[in-house]
Amino acid sequence: MDKQTGEWCDNGPHLLNGAYRATQRLLAECDAADHICWQSSLKLPLWDRQRGHFSLHPSSRLPFPIALLAAVQAMPGHNWKSALAMLRMHFGIKSHHTDGSVERLMRRCNAPDAFIRDMIEPICLGAMNEPIATADATSFGRVLAESFASKSCARLGWFNAPLQQALIEPVIRKTEQSGATIHCCHSVRSVTKELSGISVDGEHFDAAVIALPAYARNRLLGCHGPCATGVISNIHLWYQDHPGLPEPFIGGIGTLGQWFFDISAQTVQSDESIRHLCVVISADPLNMARDSVIKQVHRELSHICGYRHMPSHVRMVREKRATVLVRRHQHASTTPGIIDASESPPPGELPATIEFAVQRGEKVALEVIGQFK
Ligand SMILES: Cc1cc2nc3c(=O)[nH]c(=O)nc-3n(C[C@H](O)[C@H](O)[C@H](O)COP(=O)(O)OP(=O)(O)OC[C@H]3O[C@@H](n4cnc5c(N)ncnc54)[C@H](O)[C@@H]3O)c2cc1C
Repeated sequence: MDKQTGEWCDNGPHLLNGAYRATQRLLAECDAADHICWQSSLKLPLWDRQRGHFSLHPSSRLPFPIALLAAVQAMPGHNWKSALAMLRMHFGIKSHHTDGSVERLMRRCNAPDAFIRDMIEPICLGAMNEPIATADATSFGRVLAESFASKSCARLGWFNAPLQQALIEPVIRKTEQSGATIHCCHSVRSVTKELSGISVDGEHFDAAVIALPAYARNRLLGCHGPCATGVISNIHLWYQDHPGLPEPFIGGIGTLGQWFFDISAQTVQSDESIRHLCVVISADPLNMARDSVIKQVHRELSHICGYRHMPSHVRMVREKRATVLVRRHQHASTTPGIIDASESPPPGELPATIEFAVQRGEKVALEVIGQFK
């Protein structure tokens, strides 16, 4: 809760896409499918200083693959070279020529700089929370293959309420209805194997599922493997009588802020005279002081919206270990009864996203049912 505005304020906004099938299934089971606002078809609004507002917006009237290629080449500063790069990337991914980094994959596809700058870098930072120089191409290839598989997979969605109300509370309600007990605000300090079963902070259980970020799992199990994580900085700005962004979110090209979200347009707000915007910097190298970041993203928002007044309130949330990056992680636990569902994505798996979390949850739930039936 933000004390000054009285508003629930997530650490940062979350985007989803139509390929998040497990997430959609989970929300439907919890009677919360309508907590996501979906685009009818993909529209990726973008902005840069030279070109102003433009978007990747495949036509709904053409078959999706053709519409996508046509939309890529039609963006200002692009031509059929970008569409051809997309085709080469598609075939490279299909034939599993994706070892190494995303940058290496782009070089292999002979991708033009404009295509990398406008399409690959924003998608890579958004999905992998890592720059193309180091992001794993196999996982990135999987993201692209799943996200652009069809018109319905490619559309983007966002929660129409803070995560607590849109996702957490419906899942807790459903879980408790099924007879489970949820203990919050308890930091688990030890999970150990007993003669029969598992001890969690001294309490006996048949088994324990660990669903933590890899670094927290490692600490709990006393493992010392390296764990690469990525920062996400979220700058929340509240403006008085602001007209809002022209789209619910906009990707910035050549800007410090990578994604500009109109939280007031995405969610129902109590005070309509106050506009809540949020600027996201993925893989933030943390090389700028807080005040300089705020000044810079406010300046960028002024260019994007043409509104120059200062924000009435600012809150910056820098999540230093926002996501665990795709790496060959050491497996922390092979102990029978300790089941690992941690965020620890290996190459080829989806990167750390809500969808990856729900898939991991589904997988271990089936494993547990299999072990104890
Ligand atoms: C700012 C930000 C923006 C993001 N944007 C997107 C996005 O746009 N789209 C998307 O799909 N994904 C996004 N993600 C990623 C997504 O939120 C995560 O991948 C997902 O929530 C991971 O879920 P999880 O349940 O595995 O882990 P978490 O949500 O990290 O849950 C693990 C929980 O375990 C708790 N914990 C840690 N140690 C202990 C302990 N010892 N005992 C008890 N509890 C403990 C933690 O406090 C935490 O609540 C974003 C993440 C962040 C931080």
